[in-house]
Amino acid sequence: MHQDAQTSLLLWYQANGRHHLPWRHPLHPYEILISEMMLQQTQVNTVLERFYYPFLERFPTLESIARAEESEILLAWRGLGYYSRARNLHALAKTCQQGLPRSVSELEGLPGIGAYTARAIACFGFRESVAILDGNIKRILSRFFALLGVGERELWRRAEEFLNPLAAFDHNQALLDVGALLCKPKNPLCQECPLSPWCKGKEDPLRYTPSKTRRYEELELFYGICIQEGRVAMVQSQERLYKGLWGFVPLLGAPLDSSSLGMIKHGYTKYKITAHLYEIRSLPGDSKPSWIPLGELEHLPLSILAHKLWSCFLERSSLK
Ligand code: SF4
Repeated sequence: MHQDAQTSLLLWYQANGRHHLPWRHPLHPYEILISEMMLQQTQVNTVLERFYYPFLERFPTLESIARAEESEILLAWRGLGYYSRARNLHALAKTCQQGLPRSVSELEGLPGIGAYTARAIACFGFRESVAILDGNIKRILSRFFALLGVGERELWRRAEEFLNPLAAFDHNQALLDVGALLCKPKNPLCQECPLSPWCKGKEDPLRYTPSKTRRYEELELFYGICIQEGRVAMVQSQERLYKGLWGFVPLLGAPLDSSSLGMIKHGYTKYKITAHLYEIRSLPGDSKPSWIPLGELEHLPLSILAHKLWSCFLERSSLK
């Protein structure tokens, strides 16, 4: 149906695509996984220049991640931010001891893998003929088909309709490049665009630019409540939004010697937080808490999350 446009796109890609990017060439699915996880929240150049190769050198296989302590993964991820990705990667590696699955449905069931990442791994790692849809491709398709006010489902449908099944890998990479280099949010370069002859929205591209819906990031956090001699270990935050507020001791992950007291869902700016609570007997080595008498806790400025955790603790702990 869109054969001429697909061919034009491929020809443009052969001549103008960003072929220097390492994930443009046949790679092991594991390497695609790492690139996609890193690119979820971090710009291409930053990933490429500082993180991609050192991480692969430190952890060359999924098994090497599964064998490592979570703290080692977090250390290698340091500087990339959004550490939930590193934790998800660790959890994923432990789940996939036999290697990554190749089907989209199985990939989507793995920690930290959403609709886009699952299809990117299936297409770029396993050469499956599936469409992908990220922010750039949504913009291209909205303009190309002159779509107004359509939702995610319709955009996925259009991505599948436009997919070139005979060259899915190059087709998808080409769309990513058109989005990054030509079909830009504010000043699209329609005159240079290989899709221009068939683009229904090119006369007024900004009209067909999807409005940005807020994207939330899922965060999984772990906190410990440690009480000794009637005092509770508390930490005062120095982070900008929480500055000065008190909270419980953050943990790197679930402690081995304590079962979860409960789980709290909490929204915080662009984060959707799932916080797991533990009663702990000893503190992590690097924590330097203040010991607050239990009776003074209600006078302490607690973050909302800490309030929720404390309520959960009172309901379920030995203090009940
Ligand atoms: S012709 Fe213009 S609006 Fe249409 S896809 Fe190309 S750059 Fe985007």
